[in-house]
Amino acid sequence: MPNRERLYRTEGIVLKRNDFGEADRLLVLITPEFGKLRVLAKGVRKLPSRKAGHVEPFMRTQFLLARGRDLDIVTQAEAIEVYPGLRSDLGRMGYAFYMAELVDALAEEGGESQALYALVAETLRRLSSGDQPVLLMRFFELHLLDCAGYRPELQRCVTCGVKHEPTAVYFSFSEGGVRCPRCGEGVPGLLRLSLNAFKVLRYLQGNDLGAISGLRLRPETDRELQIALQRYLVWIIERNLKTLGFLSRVHGGTPGT
Ligand SMILES: [Zn+2]
Repeated sequence: MPNRERLYRTEGIVLKRNDFGEADRLLVLITPEFGKLRVLAKGVRKLPSRKAGHVEPFMRTQFLLARGRDLDIVTQAEAIEVYPGLRSDLGRMGYAFYMAELVDALAEEGGESQALYALVAETLRRLSSGDQPVLLMRFFELHLLDCAGYRPELQRCVTCGVKHEPTAVYFSFSEGGVRCPRCGEGVPGLLRLSLNAFKVLRYLQGNDLGAISGLRLRPETDRELQIALQRYLVWIIERNLKTLGFLSRVHGGTPGT
């Protein structure tokens, strides 16, 4: 029995789980106080499903964890919110997996992440209760960027600083925001955003989930926003992965470096 100092409680949502050894599972959680957290659920694959069900992906769960040498160990887990609408709909479950992949790629281990946690929980809740998933995903992508420190600048031109007029603009991933037509037109590597898509993007950035549920997007506007946000996310994630690769080369002392 672990002693008391080694135990701590946290709420968490399982983003990913992998089999580990014969009966264990490695879980990747997102938590409000500790960011992304890797923990070990011992013997969980041999438990009756009634008990093991509390450590399934995409549930809000209360965990009691014990500090371990490498990984902390799940000693108790009790589901608080199970988002049943996800489990009965393969399409919605697919969106949840997409969300989990993005959070896993962008969230940091350790450190407070209340805003990110609230965003994940609230998006899963609305996805489960039947909100229009398309708009929900665009909102999620945009606010995830915000939580991860990549909030796109949509108010002023990222090159000349002028306040944006209601016109089409040019998204510059490397500058983390949009350029005005004077700075962006004809420049290679920028993504043009129509006025309509730009307006919706600003609306999504400036409002909370409650305010957007009545909004309906034209399919072409959604398409534009989907391309812009997903390309920006891929650009950031690949850049982060390169940074990680660079760090491990520097610290790992690869021969020849
Ligand atoms: Zn400009």
